[in-house]
Amino acid sequence: MKVAFIGLGNMGAPMAERLLSGGFETRVFDSNPAASERFGAAYAPTVLEAATGADVVVTMLPDGHIVRKVLLETEGLLSAVAPGAVFLDMSSSGASGTVELGRALAAHGHPLVDAPVSGGVPMASAGTLALMVGTDDDAAFARVEPLLLRLGVKIARMGGLGSGHATKAINNAIAAATLAVTAEGLVMGERFGIDPATLLEVINASTGRSGVSESVFKTQIVSRRFAQGFALALMAKDVGLADGLRDGLGLDLPVLAATKRNWDAARDALGAGADFTSYFIHVERSNGIKEGDRQ
Ligand code: NAD
Repeated sequence: MKVAFIGLGNMGAPMAERLLSGGFETRVFDSNPAASERFGAAYAPTVLEAATGADVVVTMLPDGHIVRKVLLETEGLLSAVAPGAVFLDMSSSGASGTVELGRALAAHGHPLVDAPVSGGVPMASAGTLALMVGTDDDAAFARVEPLLLRLGVKIARMGGLGSGHATKAINNAIAAATLAVTAEGLVMGERFGIDPATLLEVINASTGRSGVSESVFKTQIVSRRFAQGFALALMAKDVGLADGLRDGLGLDLPVLAATKRNWDAARDALGAGADFTSYFIHVERSNGIKEGDRQ
């Protein structure tokens, strides 16, 4: 099976490396030429060359708009891949855009499967990601399954095309809301005079604990590293995708609305390069706490 892997950022690079080390014949590409350094001869100079003859084309790009642009607007790409090649979008894209992209690719005889991932860079390197798959096409799923098994341990089939992407947006909106309220709790405790590390320990032994309180709060936030390897702008994008989903479903979800407002504000205040864990700094600054105040 020939694989093309497009998008070699924080997540894509270790995922592509796992495919290569697992014996998959893989050509990789990223629009940032610096990404080539890790890949030697597997790196293709253009996306078209990476995709030529591929049986499976994996995308791990920032969002669904970029996925659509790369796949539909790269001249010759859809005829350069193997006949009936499967497109596998592992990015966190928007569900409705995925359904539209699926229609466009089907018109050229290509199935699309969405399989976004949960878990950060270390899990991408270890091949222990959780994968949420959207497709009703069992034959297309069977063709990409060996590759999914190399990248992840939990593979959940969520339903038809787009349901993996919907699942991912819902999960990340919950994680973003949880991170936000936990950050507020720690800032409140600090203002009262409680040591954040001690407060976190108690939360993690109590009902306030969560996936984020047990992971990034300890390793990235209380330790003030703020370098988990997931951009705050991408988390804000995911919350926006969940909010778009909500809108399409005609639901009134006030916590989601507040989460979107606050993550958008944090992204605008901290800039494109900020890690998502630095949302905490945004909460501090919004309350007049400066880095130096702590020493
Ligand atoms: P990233 O920003 O680190 O990497 C994206 C890569 O895509 C970059 O290397 C960029 O140069 C490349 N790219 C952008 N436009 C391109 C184009 N037109 N052609 C080719 N390459 C292009 O992002 P990431 O953290 O690797 O995340 C990728 C996807 O996975 C996102 O949708 C993100 O939301 C999702 N995700 C990230 C994490 C994480 O922990 N980082 C976890 C789960 C899911």
